[in-house]
Amino acid sequence: MGWKWNRGKRLSYLTIPEWSEKGVKLAFSTRNGGVSKNPYSFLNLALHVGDRPGAVLHNRKLFLSELGCSSENCVTGEQVHGTKVFLVTERDRSRGMQRMEDAIPQCDALLTLTDVGLLSYYADCVPLFFYCPSIRLVGLAHAGWQGTANRIVKEVLAKIKSIGGLPEDCLAAIGPCIGACCYEVGETVVSVFKENFNDLSMLTELAEGKYKLDLAKANQMQLISEGIPPKNIYNAGMCTACHSEHFYSYRRDGITGRMAAFIMKET
Ligand SMILES: [Zn+2]
Repeated sequence: MGWKWNRGKRLSYLTIPEWSEKGVKLAFSTRNGGVSKNPYSFLNLALHVGDRPGAVLHNRKLFLSELGCSSENCVTGEQVHGTKVFLVTERDRSRGMQRMEDAIPQCDALLTLTDVGLLSYYADCVPLFFYCPSIRLVGLAHAGWQGTANRIVKEVLAKIKSIGGLPEDCLAAIGPCIGACCYEVGETVVSVFKENFNDLSMLTELAEGKYKLDLAKANQMQLISEGIPPKNIYNAGMCTACHSEHFYSYRRDGITGRMAAFIMKET
């Protein structure tokens, strides 16, 4: 039960078999199997980090073909560590897939009722996946410390409710992200959590002004407080900074590539 490795024809990725059985294809990529060179080696899927666009587009093709999708059938947004939610329609098909200019602007959460695939990018930030079976909606949200502290989960659930979905029916998944083991933060970050949360159990004080931050836990707490049953939440529990063999990590490496989260309804 939960997250599993899937060894595809050319690439391995993480997925949740129970979601596939419900007709939802979900994946989180690794850094391996692509054509990007250092410091992006190998399967960098993001255009905004300084890698050669040709290599990124080739990598996207490799990853999407493992998932039975193509760039023409996928959509991506411009991630800005905000909390805006966008409902993708058929008209948005292929936006942001060949160039950043036509990506959904300034948008860290994408939802759709269509069979368009959604793609977003990560190197430590939390990938959140959503499926609401009663309205056949799927979604992704990108939650770094800012998106987490400013409650992007609340915005996603508000949008789902506004189009008739019930939080108690929803499934949510938390992909690999930086763990509390590797994520030390200071007062600037902590003050935003103090402002927006009553329960601060995602923070552990190490010394004066120094804390460990558990981003996955902070998002899990929000998913539960928004009404998603704990048994419907699938947490990968993997730290991107601890596992350089699988994952890029911005905190560990600075300039580096990005993994991708993917979700699509199967028709
Ligand atoms: Zn770690």
